[in-house]
Amino acid sequence: MTLRPYAADPSKTIGRQYPEEKSSTRNDFQRDRDRIIHSSAFRRLEYKTQVFVNHEGDMFRTRLTHSIEVSQIARGIARTMGCHEDLAETIALAHDLGHTPFGHAGQDALNHCMKDYGGFEHNLQSLRVVDHLERRYASFDGLNLTFESREGIIKHCSLKNAKALGGVGERFIKKQQPSLEAQIVNVADEIAYNNHDVDDGFRSGLLSFESLMENRLFHRCADLVNKAYTNINEDQKINEVVRRMIHLLIEDVCYESLKNLEIYQPQSVDEVRRLPPIIDFSAAMKEEQQGLKQFLRHSMYEHPHVAKMTKDAEMAIKKLFNYYIANLESIPEKFCINRLADPARLVADYIAGMTDRFAIQAASVL
Ligand code: MG
Repeated sequence: MTLRPYAADPSKTIGRQYPEEKSSTRNDFQRDRDRIIHSSAFRRLEYKTQVFVNHEGDMFRTRLTHSIEVSQIARGIARTMGCHEDLAETIALAHDLGHTPFGHAGQDALNHCMKDYGGFEHNLQSLRVVDHLERRYASFDGLNLTFESREGIIKHCSLKNAKALGGVGERFIKKQQPSLEAQIVNVADEIAYNNHDVDDGFRSGLLSFESLMENRLFHRCADLVNKAYTNINEDQKINEVVRRMIHLLIEDVCYESLKNLEIYQPQSVDEVRRLPPIIDFSAAMKEEQQGLKQFLRHSMYEHPHVAKMTKDAEMAIKKLFNYYIANLESIPEKFCINRLADPARLVADYIAGMTDRFAIQAASVL
C-alpha cells in the first residue's frame, strides 16, 4: 500500500538534535531503527523480565521477544493503513528500552527508591537511553534519533517532566497527539502483551483453558476453533485461539481507525497531532479487551507465584539502590562520565540498565 498524506515522511522529518549527512541507502526512520538494533540496551532486553522472571523458563516472553511481537503487529497495522512502516517498527523496537530488570515490579521499586529525587518512569527512561545513555558514536552521546522516533517513544509524561523535555515534551503541554505510527505502536503493545500473556500464562500452568473461557473474547474465538477442529490438543487449541484473538483485534483497530480518518481527513502529520486520537478499537472491542486485561491482572499478575517474584524483585532493587547511593565509587567508571552531579539519577540509570541476571547476582553479594 502506498503512503497516505497523514503518514510520517522521513524526507520531511523535523530532524535530529545533531545534524548529520543523509544515508545514501536508507531513509531516516530505517536508520533510527538500525541504531536501536545495534544498541547495547536493545541486546539487554533479551535478559529482562516481561512477566516471568528471566530464569523461570526459556520458553516465556522476554522484553526482547515482546518488542519484536509489538513491531510485527505495528508494521502490519501501519501497512494496512498507509502509514510509515519503518517508523512504526522503530518506535516498537525502542518502546521498552528503559525498562528495569524484573518488569513492572522493578520499575515500581526503583520509582519508590527515587521518590525524593524526581522518581523513575520506564517510559522517560527509554528516551534517556536513546538521548543520552547509549555511548557508541564519536560525535554525540545517545543515538541522535529523529524527532518522530523520539516523539513516539515518549508515550506519557507528567506536565513537570514535559517542561523539562523541550520539543518532544510540548505535546503534553498542548494536549496534542503523536503521529499515527506512534498511536499504532500503543495499540500494538496492548494487543501483543494481552495475547502473549494468555499464551505464557497457559503454558506456565497459571491459567487453565476453563478459566480462560470466562473471558468473552477468548470464548468467542474458542468457539470458532472448536467448530473448525474436533481432534486437537490443548496446546494447539490455545495457539489457534490466540491467533484468532490477535487477528480480530487488529482487524477491529484498522476498521475503526480508518473510519476515524474518513471523518477527520488529516492531510499531514501536523494535522494528526492537533486532532483527537485516531487509532483506536471500537467501543465493543474496547470492552472485551478491558475484560481480558482485568482477567489477566486477577488470574496472572496477582497470582501468588508471580506475587512472590514481585516481592523478591522489590527487595533486590531496594538493596542495590541503598548500596550504590552510599557507595558511588562502586559504579564502574564508564557509567559515571559527566553524571556525578546527580548521584541518585546515576544510580537509577545504572540499576535500570541491569539485566535480571546481573541484578540478582549483584544483589546477592551485598
Ligand atoms: Mg511494551
